[in-house]
Amino acid sequence: MNKPAMPNSFRTGPDEQGMFGIFGGRFVAETLMPLILDLEEQWNKAKDDPEFKAELQNLSTHYAGRPSKLYFAEGLTKHLGGAKVYFKREDLNHTGSHKINNCLGQILLAKRMGKKRIIAETGAGQHGVASATVAARFGYPCVVYMGATDVARQSPNVFRMKLLGAEVRPVSAGHGTLKDAMNEALRDWVTNVEDTYYLIGTAAGPHPYPELVRDFQSVIGTEARAQILEQEGRLPDVIIACVGGGSNAIGLFHPFLDDSQVRIIGIEAGGRGLDGVEHCASMNAGKPGVLHGNRTYLLQNADGQILDGHSISAGLDYPGVGPEHSWLRDSGRVQYEPILDDEALEAFQLTTRVEGIIPALESAHAIAHAMKIVPKMDKDQIVIVNLSGRGDKDVHTVAKMLGMEI
Ligand SMILES: *Cc1c(COP(=O)(O)O)cnc(C)c1O
Repeated sequence: MNKPAMPNSFRTGPDEQGMFGIFGGRFVAETLMPLILDLEEQWNKAKDDPEFKAELQNLSTHYAGRPSKLYFAEGLTKHLGGAKVYFKREDLNHTGSHKINNCLGQILLAKRMGKKRIIAETGAGQHGVASATVAARFGYPCVVYMGATDVARQSPNVFRMKLLGAEVRPVSAGHGTLKDAMNEALRDWVTNVEDTYYLIGTAAGPHPYPELVRDFQSVIGTEARAQILEQEGRLPDVIIACVGGGSNAIGLFHPFLDDSQVRIIGIEAGGRGLDGVEHCASMNAGKPGVLHGNRTYLLQNADGQILDGHSISAGLDYPGVGPEHSWLRDSGRVQYEPILDDEALEAFQLTTRVEGIIPALESAHAIAHAMKIVPKMDKDQIVIVNLSGRGDKDVHTVAKMLGMEI
């Protein structure tokens, strides 16, 4: 693929058609178009409305617990013996990850639009729980679509959603995973046009979702940038985040995109290796195609069938990626690297032991990459890793991988 021309700023996209270069857009059924256009119009008004911003700020502070800390990981730094490692502590947010940032923003948008029924898709159940949480907070009914396979293997999160008052609808189409749940949610949206708001869980889907999710998650990078300037008096040399659909990553990256001295690295799930099919590295091993209303890098077979990804961490096994990441990849501004299941598992254990922090397996992928590069860097250099969530949810998976029983 030819490299697109270098823009003056990497922070101006998408264009009016929702395109980031050749990626993104809104490839949706005719019947969805009016909803998408309405959402775009309402979002454009909301984002500059002081009242909207104040309400989001208030909830972010007092309900979600923002700003999240930028923590100097001294134990890990000493252990690795190179650059200073900082963690952006999204694991400390209410519900235990960055997902609440997006859910609070979108529920306020739903309220503003007068939509009183919330639908969402979920894979591992983390976004389902965050959606059910904000729906409970605002007193809205909430339906969560979840692949039947995922319902069976994520029972604690299914129960959490039910406790929060949400209805979980298992989807048995396809392989019964996230991709199928997302199709079903889009279908529900078209049939319940009047009262329903689709609360999408990552920076993917048709325009304007990738943009609005990015903007709600950019609080991560905006805070981190100000915090490192205050704590170290300068910008970091490297920032790293894991990429599932790409929302925590674009949230950290976006405010740094025009700081050309900052190297930016996104980490995909390398699973059991890129030579087989058991991975979820759409940008390292996929091809551009259209899924869920946008053009982006996708895992596909030779016939263009979308493949199911594999990762040790359920939050990273979406077969696509947000379109802005595809554009940042091709433009060369962001580097995307795979990390294997085993490497993530090792990072999970090391972080737990030397920092007393149990990271989400997703976040452990980003830490694993830091473990590779930090020892080769100078002691006065700085690396920020996004700790996208806490790992309590993953202890059963980890025990199983280690051959133990809880
Ligand atoms: C859902 C999730 C992810 C992956 O989603 P993105 O949209 O790529 O951020 C990463 N980390 C945690 C803790 C998650 O819950």
